[in-house]
Amino acid sequence: MLLRHTPSEIKERNALTINPAKTCQPIGAMYAALGIHGCLPHSHGSQGCCAYHRSTLTRHFKEPVMAATSSFTEGASVFGGQANLLQAINNMFTVYTPEVIAVHTTCLSETIGDDINQIIRKAYEDGKVPEGKHVIHCNTPSYVGSHVTGYANMVAGMVKYFSESTGRYRDQINIIPGWIEPSDMREIKRIAKEMGVKIILFPDTSDVLDAPQKGKHMFYPEGGVTIPDLRSTGDSKLTIALGPFGTESAAALLDTKCKVKYELLDLPIGISATDRFISGLSRAACVEVPVSITAERGRAVDIITDMQQYFYNKKVALFGDPDQLMALTEFLVDLEMKPIHIISGTPGKQFVPRIRNILKDKVPNANVRNGANADLFLLHQLIKNEPVDLLVGNTYGKYIARDEDIPFVRMGFPILDRIGHSYFPTVGYSGAMRLLETILSALMDRQDRDAPEESFELVM
Ligand code: SF4
Repeated sequence: MLLRHTPSEIKERNALTINPAKTCQPIGAMYAALGIHGCLPHSHGSQGCCAYHRSTLTRHFKEPVMAATSSFTEGASVFGGQANLLQAINNMFTVYTPEVIAVHTTCLSETIGDDINQIIRKAYEDGKVPEGKHVIHCNTPSYVGSHVTGYANMVAGMVKYFSESTGRYRDQINIIPGWIEPSDMREIKRIAKEMGVKIILFPDTSDVLDAPQKGKHMFYPEGGVTIPDLRSTGDSKLTIALGPFGTESAAALLDTKCKVKYELLDLPIGISATDRFISGLSRAACVEVPVSITAERGRAVDIITDMQQYFYNKKVALFGDPDQLMALTEFLVDLEMKPIHIISGTPGKQFVPRIRNILKDKVPNANVRNGANADLFLLHQLIKNEPVDLLVGNTYGKYIARDEDIPFVRMGFPILDRIGHSYFPTVGYSGAMRLLETILSALMDRQDRDAPEESFELVM
């Protein structure tokens, strides 16, 4: 029992985080950058940061994640990393021939105060960026925010560097997904295609981090949004931004820069949030919702109707990324479950009021916290004080689940000890069905395990 020393008595902490419910900013920037076709992410800092970020993404997606580093030594740490970055840009374009290099910073280069805008300008002036190739960047100081902040910053960087308004109207809609899996991005594209709507999805990590096995390694897989598509986002009729934490900064920048209005929605996780997404898309593109999508919804609702008694009144603890938690909480409330502890390590003022608004009088006394002190240690303590029937979160929740003997559903980032997340979506009605199946299996396996002999049922 690894966490057996966690005490149930909760004391307020201001200067200490124990087992954070988040990871660091550059991981998000690296993940977003991989959603551009032919992009090589570059970590401007020391080798150790880059190794950690790459290995976390590699272990989560079970795919080799390529990224370069400025490889700071003592000299760069004191005098700045301009020479390292210029050399790196030269080396990368010469040896690895990417279409785009996406630079993100680290705590070290941010503390030094390296001016990445200026260094990139110099790289262009010095002829280190070949014709038709690009270098973009975002700042990701990891002593603030989380991997979600880093993701949002890199997506905004894509708008800053690529989106342009040519004045030529395009009958297409931009969709900016918050932090979701490649499977989810593929599902959003499938839904749009089913509805006959032309979309530009950016970033798009499908066919990059869930690429099929073809017998030979492709340094730049086939997927990812292309540069011409990214440029054309400035001529689209609307942007649909899915998840405020991961997408609003990019959507707002696109509005300011190219006058493309945006609609901010939740990630389409669960029935209600997917309904809003489908109607938003249908309204924006002036198309009817096809029968096939309505049928998918019907199947998801049918599962809920058939199995409602297993969901009803079950207490749940959730932790993870805010955009996912907001949609998931709504879904669980729709299922008449009781999310009583909700924790996100990502800071942001809108999180708690939004969750409270979803819970309203259904779960009025829920513990809802976010920010640096909303960590897994606190979540464990909350569970000790008020036990739950189900825990939902990333792999790190397994220690609490084991210690408290709670059924555990893995969702979020990172998931290091299971597969499936990058292949089976949780967004849309199909994703809702997968979530329902996963939650039900966890609850019913527990019921089977605990049932006394005389009430052990074959058909439940
Ligand atoms: S928190 Fe900062 S120092 Fe640590 S791995 Fe992330 S960027 Fe590097």
